[in-house]
Amino acid sequence: MAKHGSVTHRDALTMVSGAAAFGALGGVVPHVAQAAAPMLGVSRPSIYRFKLGAFEVTNILDGYVQGNGPHPIFGNNQPAEMVRALVTSHGLPATRHENTYTVTVVNTGKELVMFDAGNPHGRSPTSGHLSGLLSAAGYKPEQIDVVVITHGHPDHVGGLMADGKPVYPNARYVFGAREFDYWNKGENIPDARKATRELFVKAAVPFGEKATMLKEDGEVVSGIRAVQAFGHSPGMLAFHIESDGKRLINWADTANHYIASVQRPEWHVAFDQDKEAGVATRRRIFDMVSADKIPVVGYHMPFPALGWVEKTGAGYRWAPATFHFNL
Ligand SMILES: [Zn+2]
Repeated sequence: MAKHGSVTHRDALTMVSGAAAFGALGGVVPHVAQAAAPMLGVSRPSIYRFKLGAFEVTNILDGYVQGNGPHPIFGNNQPAEMVRALVTSHGLPATRHENTYTVTVVNTGKELVMFDAGNPHGRSPTSGHLSGLLSAAGYKPEQIDVVVITHGHPDHVGGLMADGKPVYPNARYVFGAREFDYWNKGENIPDARKATRELFVKAAVPFGEKATMLKEDGEVVSGIRAVQAFGHSPGMLAFHIESDGKRLINWADTANHYIASVQRPEWHVAFDQDKEAGVATRRRIFDMVSADKIPVVGYHMPFPALGWVEKTGAGYRWAPATFHFNL
């Protein structure tokens, strides 16, 4: 320790480097300190466009909601500790979860097709941003030719209307026939889904009369056809999108947690109305996309919500797209 009043080795070094810096500046000492750069807060990507054959696909982040989880939403029939152990082994927190909402817009060259319509405006400060971001992505609401609704839940139909008016005034609407009928008739709606039905009646039913009601394997436009994905909701549809031999599956809400539901498809999910049907749909679609190496967009996969399912020894894993689509 240096004695009081003496010059330590470190002080001496500081003086030398200070003198050197002074010399380098040609004897001019800056007398106004540079202001520290302001903190700007988190910035998240929210628009991602890629090519699929001759099609252009744009994923837009309608928003996100953070809350408690993953258990008991995911692994609803499993001990909390088991679910927490799986997600923490992948660096996620044990008791916090983020749900993201990604709308997919496909430009076929002939039609602009939008899958789902996002949350109601103002559902939360961090969700319901689709209509603003659509213009940032280069599209006007009037340009949307077809709106396809994968299923009738609020985060998918809530953005169809704003102030009682259609947000996409020139669009043709496409619903799964079974899904539309279920929410429209309103029979056997579980208590937990009463509000879902109410919103569906307000936001989606007005489009029903002029809408196309799709069968399980019906065609939306050339290159886009439905794939049965019942379970999460009674008539949910996934979609197979193909252009010039390039394929993509939009699996809607088949799996909504990229670890818990992809690695453990058999774990029940609280939001799946028919839990065992949800399991069967996950297995069938995971087997299809992993065997044929078909890329996937998933409404609740981490943004840009694009990746693959790889078969592993015990099950499956989510492999997010990196630069695959940029090449
Ligand atoms: Zn959803």
